[in-house]
Amino acid sequence: MIYLDYNATSPPRPEVLERAVPFITEQWGNPSSTHGMARGPAAAVTRARDEVAAWCGCLPRDVVFTAGATEANHLALRGLAWERLLVSAVEHPSVLAPALALGATIIPVTADGVVDLTALEALLAQPGRALVSVMAANNETGALQPIDAVAALVRGAGGLLHVDAAQLGGRLAAPTTWDALTVSGHKAGGLKGAGALALGPGLALRPQQLGGSQERGRRAGTVDVPAVVGLGCALSLPATPGVEALRDRLQQAATILGARITSTAVERLPNTLHLSFPGIPGEAVVAGLDLEGVCGSTGSACASGASEPSHVLEAMGGDPSGGVRLSLGWKTTSEEIEEACGALTDVITRHRQVAEELSWSV
Ligand code: PMP
Repeated sequence: MIYLDYNATSPPRPEVLERAVPFITEQWGNPSSTHGMARGPAAAVTRARDEVAAWCGCLPRDVVFTAGATEANHLALRGLAWERLLVSAVEHPSVLAPALALGATIIPVTADGVVDLTALEALLAQPGRALVSVMAANNETGALQPIDAVAALVRGAGGLLHVDAAQLGGRLAAPTTWDALTVSGHKAGGLKGAGALALGPGLALRPQQLGGSQERGRRAGTVDVPAVVGLGCALSLPATPGVEALRDRLQQAATILGARITSTAVERLPNTLHLSFPGIPGEAVVAGLDLEGVCGSTGSACASGASEPSHVLEAMGGDPSGGVRLSLGWKTTSEEIEEACGALTDVITRHRQVAEELSWSV
């Protein structure tokens, strides 16, 4: 299997397993207990909190561990104090769904999938303290949002900025200006089931889970020690070099085959290639690649194994069912990419041959 779906989840890095597994097999104590079995796990959570804070650029006490980016996003939208909620049209469903339930206004994006800053400025000019939620990097297209420019507008209007940085960990540095920042472990070579919401100094957060005083009363529930240790470890490891060159090699092969590459006019995550072949549904390309042993994705929300049209491509004014996402990571090799280029060539060539034969027979 050639795994090119790192934006869905990544294999855990060896350093993560080395540090996290002892907290399953030996040091399984509850870090909130008051006896000797708690000390090792409590110290490990403290170290992980320091590591997450260092990556985010905040104080360790302002890191709230959660069960992933989905929970962190909900905590930000529901737990911060605001009068108006503005979210970009290309946010992950874990932002969009709660935001729409809370009556949010959608910020439009350009054809390249980045926030329309003029539209944001106009929305911010309306009365009421706004919470603005804009992701750092899009999970489907890889497009990086202009977070510094968004932050300047939000600050100028006296609002709050939440940034979902779930796709940034292990790949790029965190943005410097935000009021709340979401991170996730398993996209960065950590383990599933751990994330965090980092907060600006002293920012109050209304807890959404009650019944325990963990996380300074901001998130009740026993901390998942191995997953949180993995999150801290993953964010403290340097990004693996060479991923961007491998992505570019794949992009070159796809371009020769006639692919349209998404969001090339803006900065993108170094590991992400989103493309479409005019006239060929994304699902057909992904299924063809799967038969060749290459794991890719249409990039859109998946329910019961079936892809739904992409709200991201729709917001960009494109064909919502045409997308293919190939995302690389720390374990991807140049041999795998050469094989994937060959598999893509076979899939597209075969599809075109069948389409041509069918057109003759009509
Ligand atoms: N935000 C973004 C941008 C994501 O890509 C994802 C995962 N697809 C999430 C949030 C949710 O992350 P988690 O699986 O940690 O809940």
